[in-house]
Amino acid sequence: MKRVIVIGGGFAGLSTSVYLSENNCEVTLLEGSPKLGGRAYSIGTDTGFGSYDNGQHILMGCYEETIAFLKKIKTLDKLNFQKNLSIPFLRRGGIIFRLSADKYFYPLNLLHGIMGYKALSLKERFKVIDFFLDLIFCDSCDLNGITVREWLNCKKQSGNSIKALWEILVVGALNTTVEKASAEVFSSILKKIFLEGNNSATILLPEVGLSDLYCNDASEYIKEHGGKILLSEKALRFEFENNVLTKIQTDKNIYDKFDSIVFATPAYSFEKIVFESNCNISTPEFQYSPIVNVHLKLSENPFKERFYGLIDSKIHWVFNHHSHITLMVSAADRLINMDSEQIIDEFVSELEKYFPIFQREIIVSSKVIKEKRATFIPDIASSASRKDFICCIGNLFVAGDWIDTGLPSTIESAVLSGRMAAHNVISSLK
Ligand SMILES: Cc1cc2nc3c(=O)[nH]c(=O)nc-3n(C[C@H](O)[C@H](O)[C@H](O)COP(=O)(O)OP(=O)(O)OC[C@H]3O[C@@H](n4cnc5c(N)ncnc54)[C@H](O)[C@@H]3O)c2cc1C
Repeated sequence: MKRVIVIGGGFAGLSTSVYLSENNCEVTLLEGSPKLGGRAYSIGTDTGFGSYDNGQHILMGCYEETIAFLKKIKTLDKLNFQKNLSIPFLRRGGIIFRLSADKYFYPLNLLHGIMGYKALSLKERFKVIDFFLDLIFCDSCDLNGITVREWLNCKKQSGNSIKALWEILVVGALNTTVEKASAEVFSSILKKIFLEGNNSATILLPEVGLSDLYCNDASEYIKEHGGKILLSEKALRFEFENNVLTKIQTDKNIYDKFDSIVFATPAYSFEKIVFESNCNISTPEFQYSPIVNVHLKLSENPFKERFYGLIDSKIHWVFNHHSHITLMVSAADRLINMDSEQIIDEFVSELEKYFPIFQREIIVSSKVIKEKRATFIPDIASSASRKDFICCIGNLFVAGDWIDTGLPSTIESAVLSGRMAAHNVISSLK
């Protein structure tokens, strides 16, 4: 059995480890923090709030790698699959505009869905359809070097279409603004979501906390296949000899008996380890973007839908977990240094404007979770530097949502990068 050390226990490290375990490798996974999950985990319940996630995570029907991974660890039934695309968008005053597509007659059902999205005028809906028809024939690489805003302007999308549709999609999927996002990345995910079959655009939401969705069962899978998981053990540096990594030092141990190592940490952690190791590997440069989630525990629940997108609001999405709701803001730079009390106050006022049925008296308690480096920004510069990064050097392999998977910083990119790293390790050991 070949021995592989995997550093980092987020989606990328766990998917790497599961695929390696499946292929007869003896995995030792080292995770620096006391818990698995990285940027997608559940927070325990010592204060009577109940369990909740660090941030609401949305998966989509086009997350093929993630679906295959969850199937392997037997937790796919913990996801709720929409039967067909249906997103209720809200304007102030509680007016709902639904973006939905029927179950049958793909792709005509999508065109029909856009025509039914009355947050846009008839002329704007035709312009959006024009945009999608052009997308079919557009090569994403041709958009290299331009931002989404420039692309939308060039496609004559109105200010209202940008506010009531495009901005919501860009901020939701890329965690950045239309001004910063690369049109190349956006076009490739639009193609994945809307042009690859009927189910691709549907929303999948975990029915359980994130740790229950994948951390616990992935960890069991690895152990059942002879692997080990060591928490609270941080990789510090490594040694290279003749292009082969020979030693890895952590804050607890030195390891020198292994065949390969996979680093599945965020880019900034990998860069730090490389620096401490005096090694000449250059990592891509990223700017990061925060996400803020506010969880409100309620005494009663007046919300009818599972989730809502808010048009032109300080809150982007509201998720209904019955005993509590989660308010999510992407690209949340404005909020990162703001007091939690102030954020809650602002958000509750905003909720009252969008949901006339909502009254602040039903709030029992609240939690604010700020994730400062939630995702890297998929701007023009990062697209270029991701392409240049080499993720296999001798017996050293790299995974993580930031590897050049062609996808933005998402669960799907992390899981795909993990499967790719495992594949490269296995090929190199043959
Ligand atoms: C609030 C929030 C909301 C999000 N929403 C969505 C969403 O709706 N849909 C979606 O697809 N994606 C979403 N994302 C992004 C998604 O969570 C990430 O893309 C994904 O979890 C990244 O996984 P990863 O394994 O690549 O990295 P990470 O999850 O960051 O895992 C890396 C792990 O490496 C460990 N580590 C770092 N350095 C060391 C070291 N030196 N030694 C040992 N261990 C180390 C870290 O502790 C961490 O556990 C969201 C992210 C956040 C924060």
